[in-house]
Amino acid sequence: MRNKKVILMRSADNTFQTKSTNYRECQKNHAANIGGYAVDGCREFISSGGESTGRALVCAACGCHRNFHRKEDYSEVVSESSYTSSTRE
Ligand SMILES: [Zn+2]
Repeated sequence: MRNKKVILMRSADNTFQTKSTNYRECQKNHAANIGGYAVDGCREFISSGGESTGRALVCAACGCHRNFHRKEDYSEVVSESSYTSSTRE
């Protein structure tokens, strides 16, 4: 699983605010030591292993640490009432 969804709060009007984080393109400069700029072309962070293995922060595709990948945060508000029919009194 690469998406982590955390429910931050639940308000009285039955809406949820969820926060998710995606890790996108790898931005590690592989040519820094020769004064150039080259990335490995990895498009999205994919965890190499579970949290317990210690490889959860290593990209399976390019082998770079997750910190090299562009972080994308977003939150969304989900209304519970939109799931349920309006049969409530
Ligand atoms: Zn990489």
